[in-house]
Amino acid sequence: MTEKYFVECGCGIKLRVELFEAGTTKLCPSCKSEVKVPSSTKLKELSGDKYPLLRPIEKIQQALSNREPPFDGQCHGCDVEQATYQVPVTLSMMVERSVNDEGGLRPTVTGNILLYTGAAEELWQSTTLPLLLCPRCHLRFQAANFRAKIYRLIKTFSLLVLGSAFLCFAYFYTELIAALAGVISLIGAIAWMIQFRHTKKLDPFVNEWLCQIRWVPEALAAEDEFQLSVGESSLFTPREVTA
Ligand SMILES: [Zn+2]
Ligand SMILES: [Zn+2]
Repeated sequence: MTEKYFVECGCGIKLRVELFEAGTTKLCPSCKSEVKVPSSTKLKELSGDKYPLLRPIEKIQQALSNREPPFDGQCHGCDVEQATYQVPVTLSMMVERSVNDEGGLRPTVTGNILLYTGAAEELWQSTTLPLLLCPRCHLRFQAANFRAKIYRLIKTFSLLVLGSAFLCFAYFYTELIAALAGVISLIGAIAWMIQFRHTKKLDPFVNEWLCQIRWVPEALAAEDEFQLSVGESSLFTPREVTA
């Protein structure tokens, strides 16, 4: 979800503007008068961003603690229904990595080169945000989650079967192994690369759901390294409306 920005002309027409147009003027297509586009901070505020100067992850934390949109109870799946379930998603982001030169050095031998790796210290910060879902979307989520689990199981199982089949084969046809091993390792390397590209960030199934929440795609794009974990879903009770 990318943010959309608008300015209103005196004639009542809403003009779609881009962030880079902040501070310029636009011609109204209806009344042909010039409309001033406010500053980017103001544009963000007008689009419902109450904290235009915060980092995306800080906006999420802020909105979360104030129970403001997108965490006010609207379903993240359809954006229409009221949420009745919440799935905790923990986002861990690496804030800092430093190498501790004081001791902890361990030599790594690669060929004839001796490399020294310092003991790295990492500082991770995690935020748990609820994926809010209405009953219908929750069902869809559970089904997708189940499919992802089954898929992982099948992958592990087929790897085991392939491995043992290869061992049996190797036992009986030793001569063919060299050629076959070459082909298989090549395919394996390609598959691993594709797999790595996809799982480096997160499970595509979680990604699809999470990126529907405002600021989450921006927050993820802003971080170089992060980890995600999905918890068990529970019932979500909307905040009591006090009249
Ligand atoms: Zn106009
Ligand atoms: Zn829904």
